[in-house]
Amino acid sequence: MCDHTSIYIHIPFCVKKCVYCDFYSRTDLSLIPDYVTALQWEMENRSGLKGEINTVYFGGGTPSLLQINEVASLLKTIDAHFSVARDVEVTLEVNPGTVDLRYLKALKDIGINRLSIGVQSLKDDKLKFLGRIHTAGQAAGIVEDAGKAGFDDVSMDLIYGLPFETERTWLEDLTAAVRMMPSHLSCYMLTIEPGTPLEKQSRKGLIQPLDHQVMSALFKTTVQFLDASHYEHYEISNFSRGSQNRSKHNSKYWEMMPYYGFGAAAHAYDGRTRSWNYKSIHTYIKRIAAGRLPVEDREILTLEQKMMEMIMLRLRTREGLDLKKFQALFQVSFKDQFKVILASILDASFGVIKSDRLALTLDGKCHLNGIVEAFARHLF
Ligand code: SF4
Repeated sequence: MCDHTSIYIHIPFCVKKCVYCDFYSRTDLSLIPDYVTALQWEMENRSGLKGEINTVYFGGGTPSLLQINEVASLLKTIDAHFSVARDVEVTLEVNPGTVDLRYLKALKDIGINRLSIGVQSLKDDKLKFLGRIHTAGQAAGIVEDAGKAGFDDVSMDLIYGLPFETERTWLEDLTAAVRMMPSHLSCYMLTIEPGTPLEKQSRKGLIQPLDHQVMSALFKTTVQFLDASHYEHYEISNFSRGSQNRSKHNSKYWEMMPYYGFGAAAHAYDGRTRSWNYKSIHTYIKRIAAGRLPVEDREILTLEQKMMEMIMLRLRTREGLDLKKFQALFQVSFKDQFKVILASILDASFGVIKSDRLALTLDGKCHLNGIVEAFARHLF
């Protein structure tokens, strides 16, 4: 077991559902007070992992819908029931349509030290298409306010690859974002998820998603532009102004470190077993009110599942997959086990092995899904 662990707190509430989003969240905000009480109970009753907490992450949904006193009470519960590192990274996701400068200053005062702002775009037509509740002007204003409130660590989420996106519109968006000098950028390709309004539009032929080739070109544009703007591409969708500004919390997922996950639909991992909570907010609150843990199920990861996770997560990163670590963990040589797949990755120049690490090239990253599928077919 390692020395550090993390806490993820899921806040599954949103003002309105965005058309592309398949995350679990509800728009009935009247449930928030009972939900926060239930979260506190869950944290008080599930604190079994060893090690100091060195990252806490409020994700959603829309965590910035919580009142300041609700965030503060959750932080107090963490302090009271866990051993928290002095230099803990505490991130809260912010929807620019839900906060103002006063709220951000109050977040800073109670101990939040990193913001992840769901800007998505600095263009109103893109925001409208995505069904966001804020304008580009509001989003830019909140990024500025984050600086005024004293946050040094500010990440902006952006989405690209909308049906009408061109290299020019995406570069305009990126340029506007970089001008605001965030310490971190997450740039996500728009994907059409099953069951979303966007998928319905696509099925009816109302929108024409961009094809893989165009998406790959936009991905390369992103990497090249942000590299020239001095952002380090450290994970397939993530860029930081130097390694000190990487998301410590998310980096721990990519390193397969244990974490707690609290809240409806949250997942947790203790290094051996993965468990997940009931998705429904009502079920979550009801079970806790009856004094029962909200865990719906758990599974002990098989050796193959662990191998797959390690391959899938590490190939997303700049550092890549450590082949010696793989051998030490699984007692098999990666090169022997995946001889054919590895040869085809190297032949296609989709990956390189340097200092006993396999990392994907930019072209390889454009084919990440296919590469991961090839490993999965071999293992299962
Ligand atoms: S605000 Fe975020 S979590 Fe909520 S619907 Fe939109 S994308 Fe999904």
